[in-house]
Amino acid sequence: GDARLDRLDRTETTCGYCAVGCRFELYSDDERVLGVRATDPDAAPANDFSTCVKGKFGYGFIERDDRLKTPLIREGDGFREASWDEALDVVAAELEGIRRDHGADAISCFASSKCTNEEDYLMEKFARTVLGTKNIDNCARLCHSSTVAALLETVGYGAMSNSIEDVANADCYLFSGTNTTESHPVLATKVKRNVRDGADLVVVDPRKVGIAEHADQYLRSKPGYDTAWMNGMARHIIERDLHDAAFVEEHVRDFDALKRKVEPFTSAEVERLTDIPAGELTAAAERIATADSVVFGWAMGLTQHSHGTNNVRAMANLALLTGNVGKPDAGLSPFRGHNNVQGGGGDMGTLPNVLPGYQDVTDPEVLDTFEEAWGVRPPEEIGLTVPETFEAIHDGDVRGLYVMGENPALSEPDIGHANKALEETDFLVVQDLFMTETAEHADVVLPAAAFAEKSGTFTNTERRVQRVGKALDPPGEARQDWEILQSLANRIDHDGRRWDYETPTEIFEELTDVTPIYAGMSHERIETEGGLQWPCPDADHPGTRFLYEDGFNFSDGMARFVPADMGEPGELPTETYPLTLTTGRVLYHFHTGTLTRRVEAITDHVPESFVEIHPETAGTLGIEGGDTVRVESERGHIDVRAKVTERPGKGVVFVPMHFADGAVNTLTGERYDPTSGIPEYKVASVRIERINRD
Ligand code: SF4
Repeated sequence: GDARLDRLDRTETTCGYCAVGCRFELYSDDERVLGVRATDPDAAPANDFSTCVKGKFGYGFIERDDRLKTPLIREGDGFREASWDEALDVVAAELEGIRRDHGADAISCFASSKCTNEEDYLMEKFARTVLGTKNIDNCARLCHSSTVAALLETVGYGAMSNSIEDVANADCYLFSGTNTTESHPVLATKVKRNVRDGADLVVVDPRKVGIAEHADQYLRSKPGYDTAWMNGMARHIIERDLHDAAFVEEHVRDFDALKRKVEPFTSAEVERLTDIPAGELTAAAERIATADSVVFGWAMGLTQHSHGTNNVRAMANLALLTGNVGKPDAGLSPFRGHNNVQGGGGDMGTLPNVLPGYQDVTDPEVLDTFEEAWGVRPPEEIGLTVPETFEAIHDGDVRGLYVMGENPALSEPDIGHANKALEETDFLVVQDLFMTETAEHADVVLPAAAFAEKSGTFTNTERRVQRVGKALDPPGEARQDWEILQSLANRIDHDGRRWDYETPTEIFEELTDVTPIYAGMSHERIETEGGLQWPCPDADHPGTRFLYEDGFNFSDGMARFVPADMGEPGELPTETYPLTLTTGRVLYHFHTGTLTRRVEAITDHVPESFVEIHPETAGTLGIEGGDTVRVESERGHIDVRAKVTERPGKGVVFVPMHFADGAVNTLTGERYDPTSGIPEYKVASVRIERINRD
């Protein structure tokens, strides 16, 4: 096939799936992508020559017949095709009507962690200045909002402190709640290679995930009790005087408060709470405290709890205590999910409390700057989060919802409840590639472009801004998201202003003017310098491989220990629902599966949902592998196939999140972390029964 590939167009771009941000070339003819090949490794700092199965074979969704090709307007139970003019006029009139009758805050907008920075910047500007609503949020609320909250308090930036390069070269790792081999495969390859070359790996997780197979120590924890073991490690390190006293003294405030908070967490107490053997805990703590450099890696397994912010605080405390922040090959590594959740879901200000570059929406000076740049003053109040928006829809306070490239009908906890809210909105616009489970509820559906059909930038998990290249035109009349937003902005009156962006490059120039951490970047520099990592404050700045080398992001330059209270899971097992459900991902699929469930090369491998059950639990319930079982919580039930495996512990079951059939969020509950609003996806109480055997 290689000779054939050589005759095709080649477009350098960045993967549209996960936030590792692999770079590769798309080979295409006029109509479709035909292959993916490695690019020059100098232009691919995140991945060199590698890609995973999703990046390499996951592009089949682009050319699917069921792509949306024209705008659609609801008619009765179905939809009819409409012209862009008609559809945009309807959207503009309906949103203006809601604004007139109920105020701008009766509209909420969800930006997309899959879109480009340029598009999310415009979505945020559209919400705040065209509609004038304070309500803008995105699905980052559901994944790392607790990380962002905890890191802003402790070290100052809500992002990975280090780079993939540092992760590849650490002396030691503490990983928890990251199924790295399946969710961030190319990154996992680097960790495995380094471990093979002698680095130490400690994995703490209720499920023996793939990366745990490579660990020097695997500690099985109990879902929902993570703060306990992290506080226990901190206590042991302090007690044995193994902490980096000089670093703490010079760079971190509130050591005494930390010491007091962790005091009750003796290794015996931690064993009682988490089932982690005391000797294992202290050995792991000593391993971390004595290593030259430690990378602290985590993902949804730590964040998606009703006390997710405390979990991340506890992790940050460990990193600070051992002096592993602000130096090479060490640091805090929250592995981000979506391709552009760091940029479009955060840096671009698509959050209810911050403008682009994490600038406080309640700070009058910040608002002055934006008013000067935009000609319209953004609302100065903090808006509604995604879960708060759904509540407000129930209460009749939010009536219009604009969803760009997200699928809350599957991704929200307790989707029965979320779908009711989607039904209850007076007016719902969904902009996407497919008739997603969310779009089914819409009044107007607008057809958008896939990553291979747009240009702009994505920001990967290590804060690296990389170019996205356009290989194809969108199908039919579908358009790039920024073009759709611009057409709409020019139909809705906002102080008599018009948008007239001609290219994503123009949008990027504007956004770097108002986003200090991006100020020194340009599309041209990003292309020629292999991406740029923020902060990049001026045109001569090379970008930042790891943060906090010259102090932490506070006016006094000091980090803060923020002692973490131990929370219990919001739902504990009962007699009726005796098992603990936890949720997560598999290698072959991505998130709610809107893309990967449409790629045959992928569904061939994992076609349907399933539940993992420990052999002893399965034995007690009379369940064998392959049986169809019913998993039921207080909120609903799903019927899926049983896999009997020792990956989850006894009494714990696991269901992946990617499927509409057997959707796991039928079971999860609406319990939220009070600080960040993240839902507790990782713990729910369920029961299981066999319903048939083939
Ligand atoms: Fe794409 Fe992530 Fe796979 Fe790289 S590791 S190819 S970015 S899905």
